[in-house]
Amino acid sequence: MGLLIKNGRIVTADADYTADIWCEGETISKIERNLQPPPGAEVIDASGKFVFPGFIDPHTHIYLPFMGTFSKDTYETATVAALCGGTTTLIDFVIPGREEEPLKAFDLWRSKAEGIACSDYTFHMAVTRFDSQIASQLKEIVKAGVKSFKVFLAYKGALGIDDKELYETLKLARSLDVITTAHCENADVISELQAELVAAGRTGPENHYVSRPPLVEAEGTRHLCTMAELTGAKVYVVHLSCEEALREAVAAKLRGTDVQVETLIQYLLLDMSYAERPNFEGAKYVMSPPLRNKSNQAVLWAALKNGVISTLATDHAPFDTKQKLMGKDNFCLIPNGIPSLEERVKMLYTYGVAEGRLDLNRFVDVASTQAAKIFGLFPKKGTIQLGSDADLVVYDPKWHGTVSAKTHHMNLDYSAFEGFAVKGRCSAVTVRGKLQVKDGEFCGAKGIGQFLKRS
Ligand SMILES: [Zn+2]
Repeated sequence: MGLLIKNGRIVTADADYTADIWCEGETISKIERNLQPPPGAEVIDASGKFVFPGFIDPHTHIYLPFMGTFSKDTYETATVAALCGGTTTLIDFVIPGREEEPLKAFDLWRSKAEGIACSDYTFHMAVTRFDSQIASQLKEIVKAGVKSFKVFLAYKGALGIDDKELYETLKLARSLDVITTAHCENADVISELQAELVAAGRTGPENHYVSRPPLVEAEGTRHLCTMAELTGAKVYVVHLSCEEALREAVAAKLRGTDVQVETLIQYLLLDMSYAERPNFEGAKYVMSPPLRNKSNQAVLWAALKNGVISTLATDHAPFDTKQKLMGKDNFCLIPNGIPSLEERVKMLYTYGVAEGRLDLNRFVDVASTQAAKIFGLFPKKGTIQLGSDADLVVYDPKWHGTVSAKTHHMNLDYSAFEGFAVKGRCSAVTVRGKLQVKDGEFCGAKGIGQFLKRS
């Protein structure tokens, strides 16, 4: 038994060469030229194709109770879709309500994924309240291998925490050597702007953007960085969407603050005009932070290329057309989020690599390696080397197609990228040596995904 991938062009964050990869059991055990398969071995011919390390999405919401409803995917539908798109590991969020206990929430989220997920996964632990009892539970969760927190500066009264709680959380994170990821928007200003807009009769989805302008995100980003500077904690700004917020993160980096930045595939390719589409069509594109003016896209691409932004994620949060209707009379009630888990890698390849905005090494770095390094999964995940998990993506760049909800695997009735052309697809995807995807379709075993304890 074993799996041999022959003649592929192997690309990692720092290498690019042609060789064969021999996977024995769950790990990569040989990388050489002209390896001969032993009897009974499975052989994949990767001539003319790339072999990338399995991609990592550091920001997804699979099980998510939010705004009075639940996101549509299960760990089965989401991980099948992720794998078809080349993502072999995802980092989801455990998000307890303010009155709920972190340990109970951690058990609940694990129960939703265990024996069901088809790719590997781990979690960020959201801190939605802080006191001494919560702190002792958080310590236990960190001991169980969850080495990152999440805080919301937005959604006050629901998931958001106040400054005292933020300060205490960052101090605890520092003492445990845990990185804290953060949603950075000024919650109070958003509430005021929402109330003003609704009072003026401006209730359509196009007003969502107006209630969360770039300065609200920039202020949130600066606020997080200031608190990180005061406590010496490591922080990670999730879903950064605009130049104004990026400038604040860069200013903090220059002061020596340990801050990493993530952006999302949708901010690189979609803009605010999508959320302004008539007949409530815009609701499909309501997310927070909102889609921005197109001028931000060149800034984000450049920052991804030069390393100012470390990672590219999705914030996958699928709510269908019917759920979006909850906000028919008031944009504040539209469930926030779009489906994007399946499309991230091929969109980044098509519009990043094929159009010359990113080189192949940086493509692998932002979509896999950096997330593995920042979140304690490297070198088990995020690269191709001896001893690493045999999570491999054989990518055929010659294949051409079009994105459509008719053919995607996510459990959702629309695609945010409907009609976009794509170059390439995953002709094979393995998870720890098991072939899970062939020619863009799931062909593997359900439920083999493992919870990853991080160090
Ligand atoms: Zn999110």
